[in-house]
Amino acid sequence: MVSEFLASGVRRPQPFGSPVLYTRPLLPDLESLQGHLEDVWRAQYLTNGGQKAQELEKRLRALLGAQHLSLHANGTLALALALRAMNLSGEVITTPFTFAATPNSIVLAGLTPVFADIDPDSFNLDPAAVEAAITPETSAILAVHVFGRVCDVEGLQRVADKHGLKLLYDAAHAFGAEIDGRPISSFGDAVMYSLHATKLFHTAEGGALATWDADLHARIERSRNFGFGPDGLVEAAGMNSKMSELNALLGLEVLPLVEEERRKRTNVAAIYRSRLSQAPGVFIPEPQDGVVDSRQYFPIFIREAEFGLSRDALVDAMAEFNVIARRYFYPLCSEFPAYAANAAGSHLPVARHVVQEVMCLPYFGGLSDDDAQRICDIILFIHQGGR
Ligand SMILES: *Cc1c(COP(=O)(O)O)cnc(C)c1O
Repeated sequence: MVSEFLASGVRRPQPFGSPVLYTRPLLPDLESLQGHLEDVWRAQYLTNGGQKAQELEKRLRALLGAQHLSLHANGTLALALALRAMNLSGEVITTPFTFAATPNSIVLAGLTPVFADIDPDSFNLDPAAVEAAITPETSAILAVHVFGRVCDVEGLQRVADKHGLKLLYDAAHAFGAEIDGRPISSFGDAVMYSLHATKLFHTAEGGALATWDADLHARIERSRNFGFGPDGLVEAAGMNSKMSELNALLGLEVLPLVEEERRKRTNVAAIYRSRLSQAPGVFIPEPQDGVVDSRQYFPIFIREAEFGLSRDALVDAMAEFNVIARRYFYPLCSEFPAYAANAAGSHLPVARHVVQEVMCLPYFGGLSDDDAQRICDIILFIHQGGR
């Protein structure tokens, strides 16, 4: 039996009629997509760097401020391929507070992930922790701009330069992010964007790699096509990570919608921030100075002692109102069975703390002001003891 009112007189908010997930893919107008599908049908050319993929590469290169950019079947393969193309060996230092694809790509490239702790403000790799994790086996750093919050790019570059390491970024959450007017593509040796359906800009499945290094770019382009060189001979065993024309076409149709989507998400963020930042025990990170936010996720942190309820209890209680918030990222990658051995020597107090408090609220342009307000009502109702 659920109570309709709290002792304070606050009324129980209406549950949503159908589940509100933490994200929703941006879908272009179907008729427009069908119209352009005819181009692909007429060309009878479905993959292998066709016209649509070339067009999308060109547009993304300009939009993301990339010197060179290649499209891939997905972000995981793109990252693995970039690591392989750098001729690395041994260990790659990375963050445990990321999606499994980050350490997975290191293993796919034949390398060993080593986890270093994160910074409590950006939630990204702490350069001092990275430096402390360096061994004679270390050959690279793979940092993640998690939730679109940017890394300490200068600090990480200093560590990389000092120790002769390559520096790669997983920018799966940071499409279009900028630091002091500089696009995120311009930091590090290679930058991966995931174009998966859950990302702000997507091609259903897909990935992109940006780099300033022409030789690296050429090796990556060969490697995404089995290793074939310009003379038609395989120079080094490659993968297959080409983007199909259908995925590229979808991307070309989604791309013009991104700015409006970002504007709508900015509005949702403002509602969440104004309603929830007052609630005891709800911590909302401040925007970073000089940074253009990609608007990929809206993370909040639940401090149980002040909130009166754990993050897990809040997520479960919200589900009863059909609001499906996500414990993202939970658990740490270092706690997955696959990485237990890698993490044995890691000291990760900040990451271990953060991962207990974090959750991502529903965040997509399709949420109306009323929806966002109702989600806040639900969280505050639960906070005040309602179920
Ligand atoms: C989505 C994501 C990836 C993987 O991208 P795919 O395109 O799905 O392979 C990698 N890293 C992070 C942080 C992600 O969120």
